[in-house]
Amino acid sequence: MPTVKRILVTGGAGFLGSHLCERLVERGHDVICLDNFFTSQKSNVVHLLGCPNFELVRHDITLPIYLEVDEIYNLACPAAPGHYQFNPIKTMKTSMAGAINVLGMAKRCRARVLQASTSEVYGDPEIHPQPETYRGSVNPIGPRACYDEGKRAAEALFMDYHRMNRVDVRIVRIFNTYGPRMHPFDGRVISNFIRQALQAEEITLFGSGEQTRSFCYRDDMVEGLVRMMENDQGFIGPVNLGNPGEFSIAELAEHVLRLTGSRSRIVNKPLPADDPKRRRPDIRLAKEKLDWAPTVPLETGLAKTIEWFRSIEFSDYRPPTPHY
Ligand code: NAD
Ligand code: UDP
Repeated sequence: MPTVKRILVTGGAGFLGSHLCERLVERGHDVICLDNFFTSQKSNVVHLLGCPNFELVRHDITLPIYLEVDEIYNLACPAAPGHYQFNPIKTMKTSMAGAINVLGMAKRCRARVLQASTSEVYGDPEIHPQPETYRGSVNPIGPRACYDEGKRAAEALFMDYHRMNRVDVRIVRIFNTYGPRMHPFDGRVISNFIRQALQAEEITLFGSGEQTRSFCYRDDMVEGLVRMMENDQGFIGPVNLGNPGEFSIAELAEHVLRLTGSRSRIVNKPLPADDPKRRRPDIRLAKEKLDWAPTVPLETGLAKTIEWFRSIEFSDYRPPTPHY
């Protein structure tokens, strides 16, 4: 494989994708960022547009596209519950048709292709923390199914192309990741709490706030994605990537209030259907195979994220447009 690779990042203008593109451009690779801007905007990658080794393609990954590449990171998919439930049928199409299109491309180009899967494949888990061997507890007919089952189907497709066509695949299961460039209106808990705190709005705590999540800072995640892609030891995953530090959502609200100095009131709202009660990655496999573990503690990552949220104009961001 040449040192300068032609790399496609689908969903490359999104929160994680834009940081990944940045990292790959810095390393000198020839980067194609493909996005339909459903949950993102050009401002995430505008600073890369002047780079000769960066190219932006507006395209919907549910439709075929022919590009000549060495590696593909498949990140195209709405990721926040509010975004993926906005048009659940389209979400399922994006996961499944998107996977088929990138796998077909990888097969034709003999490229390596990495799937951004998710901890949601474990659903509302009965095993804690979640190892990769756990098969999950997903409600196949609930409001989260479009995302959870779409990502599970994508994993199945990746493994079938690998077994049938020897496509060089990689599967990573990403646990809640946060940082600058999260969409301020995506409804995810960190973006909601920070925006609410900065705008002196009520902090919306769903349910009792005892449910837990484990939050990974974006730099750690991008490092994990690249290590998995560049692993030449034949390790294809699935592998969990996430920060094992586990916090209740009520604790998170207190952290955000303290770090922003906000006097917003915390108000309880109903818990959404099928909201997982506990989530924490078992990352022993990532440590063993990739020598990877997160390095950024929640407080540090939250402070950087808050600083970024202070620097943006919320009115520059819009909710998704209906999309069929
Ligand atoms: P994001 O919404 O910021 O990024 C997704 C990007 O994909 C956006 O730019 C969006 O416009 C684009 N997109 C959506 N549908 C598309 C389509 N049909 N064609 C082309 N582009 C399309 O979300 P993110 O947090 O950056 O997530 C990136 C990937 O990582 C997603 O696949 C997500 O499922 C996965 N993931 C993220 C997290 C997390 O906590 N951030 C956790 C688990 C998995
Ligand atoms: N949550 C909350 N208030 C909000 C948004 C989310 O209490 O304004 C809770 C949500 O119910 C869940 C957790 O925070 O228990 C994480 O939600 P998020 O949407 O960020 O991601 P999830 O891990 O559920 O996909």
